[in-house]
Amino acid sequence: GAEVLIVGGGRSGLQAALLAGDLGGIPVLADDDPGAFDGPMWAPVRERGARVLTGVRLGPWIRSWKGPVVMSPGIPPVAWCGQAVAPPLSNIRGELEWAASLWDRPVVAIGGTNGKSTTTALVGHLLKSAGFSPFIGGNFGVPFSEGVRLMRTARKEGKRDPFDVAVIEVSSFQTESMQSFSPDIYLLLNITPDHLDRYDSLAQYRLAKLHVASLFSPSTTVIWNASQDDWREWGPRTKARSVFVGSAELPGPGVVLSGSHLQSHGLRDSFSVSTAGYRLIGGGNLQNLAFSVLATILLGETMGRRIDPGILEEAIASFTGLPHRMERVATVRGVTFVNDSKATNVGAVEAALAGLSDVGHPHVVLIMGGRDKGGSYRPLIPWLKNHVREVVAIGEAREKIRRDLGKEIPIEEAQDLFEAVARAFSVADSGEMVLLSPACSSYDMFHGYEERGERFREAVRRLSAKFGGER
Ligand code: ADP
Repeated sequence: GAEVLIVGGGRSGLQAALLAGDLGGIPVLADDDPGAFDGPMWAPVRERGARVLTGVRLGPWIRSWKGPVVMSPGIPPVAWCGQAVAPPLSNIRGELEWAASLWDRPVVAIGGTNGKSTTTALVGHLLKSAGFSPFIGGNFGVPFSEGVRLMRTARKEGKRDPFDVAVIEVSSFQTESMQSFSPDIYLLLNITPDHLDRYDSLAQYRLAKLHVASLFSPSTTVIWNASQDDWREWGPRTKARSVFVGSAELPGPGVVLSGSHLQSHGLRDSFSVSTAGYRLIGGGNLQNLAFSVLATILLGETMGRRIDPGILEEAIASFTGLPHRMERVATVRGVTFVNDSKATNVGAVEAALAGLSDVGHPHVVLIMGGRDKGGSYRPLIPWLKNHVREVVAIGEAREKIRRDLGKEIPIEEAQDLFEAVARAFSVADSGEMVLLSPACSSYDMFHGYEERGERFREAVRRLSAKFGGER
């Protein structure tokens, strides 16, 4: 019967409002955009008696609301509390944290700067292949509140549980405000600079991702990246068990990537899993695989099931990755076009270029640019010098890219993505690659990275129609 303030009219807000209604609450809907709740998808919420706040200024409202508040991750705290990260307030929870508190099955949570979605999909795929029924969502795909609702509905109807585990992607916008969260397994893939347009500093961004370690109970296992230093600082601050993924000697138990095998080290059940059938290139994808395999095996242990490495190897070979991440689009006159539109920060572009050794070190014409997110492009210089013949810069960030990189690497500018693709094709030789890996968000020219990737594919299709190409 209580009123629950739901802030944000996107998908998280919708599922949170439906869940609040299922729990017997009365959703009160708030968004700065007065039309946010008009769409047909909100009809079931409105029909069940939700109250829509119109014409209010969100900030003062949220601050004055004394009852429970469920926040969507897209609402920047600065808009209502004047700070980049909201202070912990006992009545306010993020949508994902709130859903997690209502979930009573195991949880595998995936955090980090890059590779979260790929790893979430991959862990889900491995678990399905091993006979589990995972709910896969969170920041990726479906909000966690929807998983909780599906579970509650099935139980209410006397049906079997649709899921036995949740695999959840968590972004910094979801972890930053968390006050209690203790998944069974937490994967911290990597942390490199990102979102410096929303956070005040890199230190604050790192804290937004890492502070959750201090919330974990001893029943959580954290998988750390042994090649980064986060575990040194945060390992001692967590009650959780620490395990590691690395390519050399590990600081504790975990998995070592050696050649084409993942070899367990110091774990209760030892295993060796071949990565030979894995199809993903670049983007730290081998690391994502190592994290995923370790998480799957550890979850099996938690649930009393030993997972056969042979089954994992088959599943690894059938994983095709997600669109817009190092996705091969077509080859036109010997030039291969790769769509990495999801590379919205410098770390992802570094990984893309570092991964080119997997595919025979082709020379690359790199299309980058879009809306700048703060931070410097200069860390790319060594990679660009090694791999990139020319950068074609697009979007609002063009000038900054030229300022940061122009002395070191040839840069051309293009008005739009079509022109950039045409320019890149004209300079690339047969055997080379045209890579869209922007290091920027897409919102200056597109509705999101998907649209940017689709426009890229379309431009490549046109070239291919003109010059003949193979997929
Ligand atoms: P996220 O959900 O964290 O944004 P994605 O799986 O969507 O991660 O990948 C985002 C970008 O990062 C893509 O360009 C992808 O190729 C790249 N990437 C994937 N895994 C890694 C990794 N482990 N390290 C660095 N970059 C990665």
